[in-house]
Amino acid sequence: MILQLNTKSGWEDIISQYPLIHVKFSDANLLVSPSSWKEIPTNLEPYIAQSWYMDSDIQLASKKFLPGKRKITLGDVSIGGDSGNTIMMTGPCSVESEIQITACAELCVELGVKVLRAGCFKPRTSPYTFQGLGMDGLILLSRMREKYGLQIITEIRDSTHAEAVIEHTDWIQIGAKAMYDHGILRLCGKSKKPVLLKRGFGSTLQEFVQAAEFILSGGNENVVLCERGIRTFETKSRFTLDLCGVAYLQEHVNLPVILDPSHAMGYAYGVKGLTAACAAMGVDGLIIETHPDPAKAKSDASQQLDFDAFRNLYTHASKVCKAVGYQLI
Ligand code: PEP
Ligand code: MN
Repeated sequence: MILQLNTKSGWEDIISQYPLIHVKFSDANLLVSPSSWKEIPTNLEPYIAQSWYMDSDIQLASKKFLPGKRKITLGDVSIGGDSGNTIMMTGPCSVESEIQITACAELCVELGVKVLRAGCFKPRTSPYTFQGLGMDGLILLSRMREKYGLQIITEIRDSTHAEAVIEHTDWIQIGAKAMYDHGILRLCGKSKKPVLLKRGFGSTLQEFVQAAEFILSGGNENVVLCERGIRTFETKSRFTLDLCGVAYLQEHVNLPVILDPSHAMGYAYGVKGLTAACAAMGVDGLIIETHPDPAKAKSDASQQLDFDAFRNLYTHASKVCKAVGYQLI
């Protein structure tokens, strides 16, 4: 149940008796109980202006609570709400060198892409492969922001660098493998920066959105969901992009949704077509991996697009976005 507090004071002394979380959003002072609650305790009633009965612990993210879609604005970039924007986030899987990330930043500038995305702390499946440049990568990304006026997004892998990433990036990415890391989720709940939460590849939609509830209930309203493919019996593609799941989220959840066809497909050849399919669904954003020389990439080499392929994808996706009433920015 979600309870909106009125302006009377005194509720602070009462709530310690109950399993209630106090959530302060920009325009609302809320208490959230487990969704199993069906009645407001009588000693709290005088403090409650409005209440919403919820049927699962998808609560703050639910359209039952907030119909429509939350708007997220950072500088001159807005997604969700009435913005009509589909945002492109692109860059290499990993920051590898100043020359490489500069080339990607210049590609963004050339096309008018506003958000440069690259990993510095890589959550690799093997400890023997490239693990990312760490803080050196974050410094290079920050340099790209200063030099080119781009917004940057990079991933938190674990608690050793979580605070540094939150401080130095514009958008915070929580990767598929960290979706269940409650330390990271709670820390991101204390920030006001937009958080892009990727779906764990073995997670149900319920688990995915409940992970987002940890960030929302911490007081951060700026959460974006990212579908990046789930694991199925199929092995010909790296993962299976769950577009049915996207339809579910668009129908029931009030958070913007960004799609990542690069990680889902795992191969460059499918990415343009999948991007068009995602854009046709009126999604709020796209993540596409690009690299100046994909064959030499230190991670995810098979799925990264070379710059000409990216230019081609971008032009194509812009047209599809326009056809469904969105603008690719
Ligand atoms: C990434 O975005 O580079 C990444 C590692 O993706 P995921 O967390 O979806 O596997
Ligand atoms: Mn990658």
